[in-house]
Amino acid sequence: MNKPDDGKQHQVLVIEDESDIARLLEMHLCDADCAVTLAADGHEGMRQAFARPWDLVILDLRLPGPDGLSICRALRREQLYVPILMLTSKSSELDRVLGLELGADDYLTKPFSISELMARVKAIFRRVESFQKRFVGSDETLEVGPLRLSTRGREVNLNGETVALTAREYDLLNHFVRHPGQVFSRVQLLDAVWGYGYEGYEHTVNSHINRLRAKIEPDSARPQLITTVWGVGYKLEIAPEKSRNRPLLRSINCAS
Ligand code: CA
Repeated sequence: MNKPDDGKQHQVLVIEDESDIARLLEMHLCDADCAVTLAADGHEGMRQAFARPWDLVILDLRLPGPDGLSICRALRREQLYVPILMLTSKSSELDRVLGLELGADDYLTKPFSISELMARVKAIFRRVESFQKRFVGSDETLEVGPLRLSTRGREVNLNGETVALTAREYDLLNHFVRHPGQVFSRVQLLDAVWGYGYEGYEHTVNSHINRLRAKIEPDSARPQLITTVWGVGYKLEIAPEKSRNRPLLRSINCAS
């Protein structure tokens, strides 16, 4: 059943205990030029997840053994970023997953249409590939005000101190830092950072903004870096005293 390393474009791990769904996913992913490995429970899923690098992990929430949340959490503790698409059985579970914000890249509630799932998978691949085209091999440092982002290690410094961000928080901050002063609506941020806009999940943006603020704002109740533009969305402010004598956005060491 497992077909790794057969020259296909993407290596995908599917952790799903419902064999009908797993086989359906395998069939359609193979058609989309993916090499698919199936894991039918949480123990095997956990083992496979760390056995090699993956281009995508499709992860069912409810599994025998460690559940999807535990596997997602464990993967997000790793240095290497792997895209995760989470499957949940009902929308109340989806709310729970979104509430926990474990850093899955996308979520689908069962029953889902296979075309919807494949659209999400392709959106994840597109996002990762465009990110890699822009940044892999380059060691770019971006500075706005007290913030400094290093793209190679996805590292963030605030006033010289390292800030630990989740993958999504980093992507969100990276987007703001590349467009300082520009106002983005929640839907625009979903589109730019999550890969596409999906209506009804604007609260996901709010919760990420709040967590990001808690990590980078001196007083997250009175944000000075990422501010709310009422009725519109959010923007990254440039403190006037910080920007007076230097470019708003400074890019250093762009490797060829
Ligand atoms: Ca299940």
